[in-house]
Amino acid sequence: QGPGAMKFQRQHMDSNSRPNPNSNYCDQMMRCRRMTVGACKPLNTFVHEPLKDVEDICIQRNIRCKNGQNNCHKSKSSMRVTDCRLTNGSRYPNCKYHTSPTRRQITVACVGNPYVPVHFDA
Ligand code: ATP
Repeated sequence: QGPGAMKFQRQHMDSNSRPNPNSNYCDQMMRCRRMTVGACKPLNTFVHEPLKDVEDICIQRNIRCKNGQNNCHKSKSSMRVTDCRLTNGSRYPNCKYHTSPTRRQITVACVGNPYVPVHFDA
């Protein structure tokens, strides 16, 4: 498993929890997944689906990514996700997040052989 795939899983996969109504979810998860080291990552999404289902997004048709590359793929079905957005007054190292559970189709960028998700595009 490449470094990109591992980083994607660290930053975006949380298969074993449901979208969490607990408002502390993002404060805790952004810290424990090391996205508050050196700076507070402003926006991040966690996906609450099996890894296999997220990896399978890579077999959907190619679409254009936000950076102009064409290695993005959109999930056929909507997925359970939690969006973490840094609060306005939050100052490093005290990273405070809004926690927003929702369901939607997601778009990931895939790379490599095996061709697996390395970036969360939308
Ligand atoms: P994420 O984008 O997953 O929320 P991040 O912003 O920290 O996290 P990066 O560290 O930029 O993400 O990781 C994305 C990785 O994916 C980089 O190594 C980048 O080169 C790679 N990558 C491959 N294809 C794309 C793409 N189409 N768009 C953006 N990054 C891509």
